[in-house]
Amino acid sequence: MKKSKILLHICCGPCTLYPLKKLREEGFDVTGYFFNPNIHPYQEFRRRIRALKEVSEIKNLPVIYDTNYGLRDFLKAVIYREHKRCEICYLIRLEQVVKKAIEEKALAFTTTLLYSRYQAHELIRDIAEDLSFRHKIPFLYRDFRAGWEEGQEEAKKLDIYRQPYCGCIFSEQERYDKKFRKKMRRVKNEPF
Ligand code: SF4
Repeated sequence: MKKSKILLHICCGPCTLYPLKKLREEGFDVTGYFFNPNIHPYQEFRRRIRALKEVSEIKNLPVIYDTNYGLRDFLKAVIYREHKRCEICYLIRLEQVVKKAIEEKALAFTTTLLYSRYQAHELIRDIAEDLSFRHKIPFLYRDFRAGWEEGQEEAKKLDIYRQPYCGCIFSEQERYDKKFRKKMRRVKNEPF
């Protein structure tokens, strides 16, 4: 019997391992789609693509790559709305994933973003469900966070590059700029 084709949006190599395993266990024919205009700077963008190519080879996973570096478009979309940037970032990516899934005649779409403990899981699910409804293509919701440790362990064993920050230049600053982090914490704790 022919397996159902699922388009799996992929944010990076390490986050692919566990969702891929689970989807294959469920009998899906998985095709990956790398579309992440939020990853900066350029060398990091290339590095994450290289890491995914390693995973794709090891796991025999077909992947469609969008290798256009989306810095400018991404910044235009979030500038002056930085406080809502993650929501915008999910929407930009998932909207394109839906278009690609329809183009590829996939039965449904899903995303490795649902694997990360550090993403706004419920927001991703809500955005994907809304897109699914509007574009009439099923969204395969799974809570892949249950396999966080397993996926991370496998990435370590396979020696796949694991990035230290989410992706955009804002998240890079939050990761490395201690003074900025302190300031943000203070702002959050200040009474209105
Ligand atoms: S922190 Fe991550 S999810 Fe949020 S905007 Fe930046 S790259 Fe996108």
